[in-house]
Amino acid sequence: MSAKLIDGNALAASIRNDVGRRVRRLADLGLTTGLAVVLVGDDPASAVYVRNKVKDCHEVGIVSTLDRLPAQTTEAALLARIAQLNADPAVHGILVQLPLPRHIDSHRVIEAISPAKDADGFHVSNVGMLVTGQALFRPCTPYGVMKMLEHAGAHLDGAEAVVIGRSNIVGKPQALMLLAEGATVTICHSRTRDLAAHTRRADIIVAAVGRIGLVTADMVKPGAIVIDVGMNRGADGKLCGDVDFAAVREVASAITPVPGGVGPMTRAMLLVNTIEAAERAAG
Ligand code: NAP
Repeated sequence: MSAKLIDGNALAASIRNDVGRRVRRLADLGLTTGLAVVLVGDDPASAVYVRNKVKDCHEVGIVSTLDRLPAQTTEAALLARIAQLNADPAVHGILVQLPLPRHIDSHRVIEAISPAKDADGFHVSNVGMLVTGQALFRPCTPYGVMKMLEHAGAHLDGAEAVVIGRSNIVGKPQALMLLAEGATVTICHSRTRDLAAHTRRADIIVAAVGRIGLVTADMVKPGAIVIDVGMNRGADGKLCGDVDFAAVREVASAITPVPGGVGPMTRAMLLVNTIEAAERAAG
């Protein structure tokens, strides 16, 4: 039996519609919703990501500003710009596109963003809020995965969940979010001795590694839900995930494709984080 496809494009579109409604509701009260995006340097991939984020904002009525700062911008100048954005009441979310040039300490920059405007959810204060079950901003990718699981009707309470990858932006927050919903969570990583032994027990697998074909059909329990966060370029140049999609699809009950899965959801959740911040600011 072929797994149900969890369509990230369709779900992201419905989330954008909902954000648009909420933005208009605030506008009716005379309030604008603002996201400030800061890009330092001229990394082409970052430029594309930033352009897409700004475009998404415009589509839903969020006022988005883009600061394009030269690669030689000093850390002090960047911190000064962040301080201005922190103080600007028209800005509800601030996003500094990573990676930053090597001479800038990205930790220091992230910690300079007001936790109340930290649209990416990377500030230690927001990580702490997530750990203690009072999340304010959730990192966009794992937040999007949670929406996909909800949409797929996954029963998380008591489920066995395996997250492959332990990065600060995906794996760790993903595990915390699943834990908060009552799942029994195992986090696997490059030092895990027998990855398949863990994944074969899982009702839910989230693969966030960056390695083509890491999750094969024999590693998946029949009926499991498989979420593929990975974004890789195949030998043919095409975008693909960490999961052997064609084979795993025949074993799983639901699966996300790459492209058209987690990627569009990550973009949509940035808009959700921004409108949530604007609604909090509006009281
Ligand atoms: P990352 O920081 O490089 O982390 C990768 C993780 O995978 C690490 O924890 C690493 O373990 C683990 N790992 C490496 N090889 C492994 C193996 N053979 N078995 C098990 N675990 C292994 O990457 P990331 O930023 O979390 O991103 C992961 C993937 O998701 C990438 O492909 C990235 O492009 C993609 N991504 C997609 C989106 C989206 O919107 N779709 C968003 C963010 C990221 P160690 O910690 O032991 O090194």
